[in-house]
Amino acid sequence: MNNPPQHAVLESLDVKDGCLQIGGMPLTRLVQRVGTTPFYAYDRKKISERVALLRRSMPPEIQLYYAMKANPMPAVVQHLAKLVDGMDVASLGEMKVALDTPLSPHRISFTGPGKKLEELRSAVASDVIINVESASEMERAAQCGEELGMLPQVSIRVNPDFELQSSGMKMGGGAKPFGIDAEQVPSLLQHVGTLGLNFAGLHVFSGSQNLNTSAICEAQEKTIRLAIEIALQTGVAIPRLNIGGGLGVPYFPGQQPLDLAVVGKHLHGLVHEIRQIFPRIEIAMELGRYIVAEAGIYVCRVVERKISRGQIFLVTDGGMHHHLAASGNLGQVIRKNFPVLIGNKIHQDADEVATIVGPLCTPLDILAEQIPVARACPGDWVVVLQSGAYGLTASPVAFLNHPEPVEVLV
Ligand SMILES: *Cc1c(COP(=O)(O)O)cnc(C)c1O
Repeated sequence: MNNPPQHAVLESLDVKDGCLQIGGMPLTRLVQRVGTTPFYAYDRKKISERVALLRRSMPPEIQLYYAMKANPMPAVVQHLAKLVDGMDVASLGEMKVALDTPLSPHRISFTGPGKKLEELRSAVASDVIINVESASEMERAAQCGEELGMLPQVSIRVNPDFELQSSGMKMGGGAKPFGIDAEQVPSLLQHVGTLGLNFAGLHVFSGSQNLNTSAICEAQEKTIRLAIEIALQTGVAIPRLNIGGGLGVPYFPGQQPLDLAVVGKHLHGLVHEIRQIFPRIEIAMELGRYIVAEAGIYVCRVVERKISRGQIFLVTDGGMHHHLAASGNLGQVIRKNFPVLIGNKIHQDADEVATIVGPLCTPLDILAEQIPVARACPGDWVVVLQSGAYGLTASPVAFLNHPEPVEVLV
């Protein structure tokens, strides 16, 4: 049998005395501390390092926003609130978590289609910036402002007239439920003042999980040109432009990490260009996955080792109900394996090919398929790497009614 290629991140693991280190402690101690499996653990130092890397690589004028939907664990959000310039939230629940941080409400933006009246009212009352996704949403925001006797802060989410090429998930360009089509924005902008709204800026988010440097640079360039065009056409000053993000991380064999220096250098030129025309415009980037994905692991325990017609199955106490992304059911077209290892046997060769599954009665409950791992038995720990983003938060935990996994920030 051909062994699938190993993942690059397995070669750069943080290992001390033969033991995988998480948050500066050996995995063995972490498992004892948590006291149960399955669990997610997020490494606070790795999150900080990631933000520092972004700060070093991006132009100094760029503000960094954390898109909370990637990992809304309150402890993670509190940690990040000290490191980033702002947060983007996509629900009232997320907005409450962001408002619990020391960030000013003007540093919180509320994005997402179909915001309900009570959500808009809460946002206006809290003075957070509402990223309006339609003309009628803008009117509803104004209505809330009138009711509350407050001036709502709104920015306009623009559905651009271009796509972010080679993105794992496209969220702009063509017909989309997100944002207001670029061609309608100028006439709408002229309305903002008459509606009794404070215009806070423009927001363009065109896609997610992109590992193609030139596609990212191109989308950033088009975004900045679009903002310049809208501003010049309408004569309306744009206080802030959020250019989105979409920076991806390598999940599968063969994928390479992004060269952030190239993105930063290109963006530097673009910032210079727009600042020559609009010297005071603030420019923000908004990232979720890139900040937290590599800082997280998911750990579950082997319950049973089974052989079926010659194939080895490791049945664990975790699975797709906790980690939908690793199971391949969160938008993957062809299922590929996340990097996985046997956490208490990392010094042993991965000389066995096994399929790692969960306890659910569905063939979709796969954590890794035909993957080379160290020979594992009941009691051993399966560790899924690159699990800090879209892990628990994007999983169907209620499916089959197993207990929820624990989350820790270490
Ligand atoms: C999902 C989303 C993000 C975060 O995307 P990542 O790929 O995790 O960086 C940012 N902004 C908006 C509007 C989103 O919907």
